[in-house]
Amino acid sequence: MAKQKTSSNEDNNPVESMMSYLIEAAQLIKIDKHILEVLKYPKKIVSVSVPVKMDNDTVQIFPGYRVIHNTSLGPSKGGIRYSMDVNEDEVRALAAWMTWNCAVVGLPYGGGKGGIKCDPTKLSKGELERLTRNYTALMSDVFGPDKDIPAPDMGTGQQEMAWIMDEYSRIVGKHSPAVVTGKPIPLGGSLGRVEATGRGIMVATLGALESLSILPADCTCVVQGFGNVGSISAKLLADQGVKIIAISDVTGGYYNPNGIDIDAAIQHKNKNGGLLKGFAAEKISNAQLLELKTTILIPAAMENQITLNNASKIKAKLIVEGANGPITAGADKILNKKGIIIVPDILANAGGVTVSYYEWVQNKAGEYWTEERVNQQADDTIRRALKTIFYTAQRYKVSLRIAAYIVSINKVTEAFELRGSC
Ligand code: GLU
Repeated sequence: MAKQKTSSNEDNNPVESMMSYLIEAAQLIKIDKHILEVLKYPKKIVSVSVPVKMDNDTVQIFPGYRVIHNTSLGPSKGGIRYSMDVNEDEVRALAAWMTWNCAVVGLPYGGGKGGIKCDPTKLSKGELERLTRNYTALMSDVFGPDKDIPAPDMGTGQQEMAWIMDEYSRIVGKHSPAVVTGKPIPLGGSLGRVEATGRGIMVATLGALESLSILPADCTCVVQGFGNVGSISAKLLADQGVKIIAISDVTGGYYNPNGIDIDAAIQHKNKNGGLLKGFAAEKISNAQLLELKTTILIPAAMENQITLNNASKIKAKLIVEGANGPITAGADKILNKKGIIIVPDILANAGGVTVSYYEWVQNKAGEYWTEERVNQQADDTIRRALKTIFYTAQRYKVSLRIAAYIVSINKVTEAFELRGSC
């Protein structure tokens, strides 16, 4: 991201890509130009310098952000990312994505996102805890169960959410589990939350295959990225009879035309500290992986993976965006012309935030739902939203992506107008 941001190629700027979809959809449904202006900008950008006492007794300062894009539909919702690539532009785009994510599946939330520029793999557990607690303290006026509700994102997980919950509860002087989602189960986390994003991708993929009249057992699938989202979607799709022919992580791609044993890949990853290095399959590059002949391609790694440089070489029939913004706006046009069906990020990866919403509801009501109830409600939500965007795409004769933006913008605009204020 950071590398691409400095590139002169405007096509690789995630804010610009998102903005071009927003404008195209808004023009089609003719929304008031003043409201469009509001939707273009984040409502609030909070930037902090987080001091951390390191294990070697020095103090390091880490830049941190929380961007609230929109709160028309409810409190802002969105994850916190720990990565060296975090910058204000990226967090701004991701915050807006969350507004559309929440709206497309009908959650009563606005969109926000946070990030700290750091390399979490180089910090000790104690340093990570101090970083997370100090960031929470600096954001204690921003966060709140009815204001802004963080969650895990790249580089963060249940432990960071536990620290956020604890630090925030300490500051406000009362137990506040609903201030953050993605918590460990004993602290009020929801069953099914860890798998929720991957599960939503599986459900969206099956729904799209059905509309294309393709049976899962007749499909091959390539998954880029083998973190929480990539590995779980690969596993759940394999369980549905889809043949996963290639997977990848930062060490490169692993290809087997006869099908990869995903359980073995997950075991290999768990045994070797999270990397697929040394996994028994033909080694290919990440670039080759994207260009493989396959029915389904799931980019579940990073932004800007399919760009003007490689879009014409993509051979998949169906792309389901696991990551946010894996296809640039320029590449999206090329893929649409080639007739490739794209289930857009704002719907495909909304399973995570949907179950976050269920976690928040459970915390507020003091309830615990069964995993079956969580999965069934989340699956229904994704299926219903997919049907709506297929219908909207037909009605307006646009791609599924623009249809998803139309659905989201309509909901946010309606709430905005009814409220009568920003
Ligand atoms: N970081 C996740 C996402 O971007 C989760 C957001 C949430 O659960 O609030 O979808």
